Amino acid sequence: MPYFLDLVKKLENKSNEERKNIIIKILKNKKIKYKLEDYSYFGTKGVNIIVEFGKGNKYSIASAHYDVVLGSPGANDDASAISVLFKLIENLRKIKLKNKIKIIFFGDEEIGRFGSLSYIKKHSLRDLIGVYHMELVGMGDSIGLWPVTKFNENSYIIENIEKVLEKENIYWEIIGNLPAFYGDDLSFREHRFKHAICISVTYKKDKEKIKRFVKSSIPSLIFKYHLGLVPKMFKLYHSKNDKSIYLNENAMGMTADVLTESLINLDKKF
Ligand SMILES: [Zn+2]
Repeated sequence: MPYFLDLVKKLENKSNEERKNIIIKILKNKKIKYKLEDYSYFGTKGVNIIVEFGKGNKYSIASAHYDVVLGSPGANDDASAISVLFKLIENLRKIKLKNKIKIIFFGDEEIGRFGSLSYIKKHSLRDLIGVYHMELVGMGDSIGLWPVTKFNENSYIIENIEKVLEKENIYWEIIGNLPAFYGDDLSFREHRFKHAICISVTYKKDKEKIKRFVKSSIPSLIFKYHLGLVPKMFKLYHSKNDKSIYLNENAMGMTADVLTESLINLDKKF
């Protein structure tokens, strides 16, 4: 059974609560220590699931969100990224780190990033080295790093992952602000922390289509969406068709390799 797709299928079509419990059960079965951080945000109660490796005050974050849009099976968004976090956990178990790496499964991203915003409320960002958040990493052959803007374009977090992509000979694109799209990485940049970025995977052949699509204004995005004039990754996104049958094992394998190597390299620099 393929490692990543097997995990995605376990989470597919499950509610937020069920997904949370499945993640906890897998961590328990693998005998991985974790912390549950409860939060209450505008009356919504939730929990972030956190696994830590290494020691000291300084730390990096690798994250995904475990909640889903109601009515969507949530395979690519964001079960694909959860499966990558599990592989990362297995990889980091064997490695001696200089600093800490926190693997965070955030709750309530889709309704307004409540999990990541609550995390920031509780923890100082002073010791934070950088954040790699993942959205939609289950389909494609190349990597998109976004959003890269004036604010964060000179961040070491970007240079660090680009070095790995270059070395591994993986095609990637730097993408600017996307209208109406965001991930938990935005919560950190909103708090003036610029070393936070999102990783997504897509097909290289779709890149021009995607570039045109993400440059559209919000009304025209909605219009295109209803006419079906959207690249595959966005067509499935937040819909009832966000299913594991459209995902490929290699996309998640590639992401896990890149993420592991990037985090280990980053750890060495601090
Ligand atoms: Zn998402």
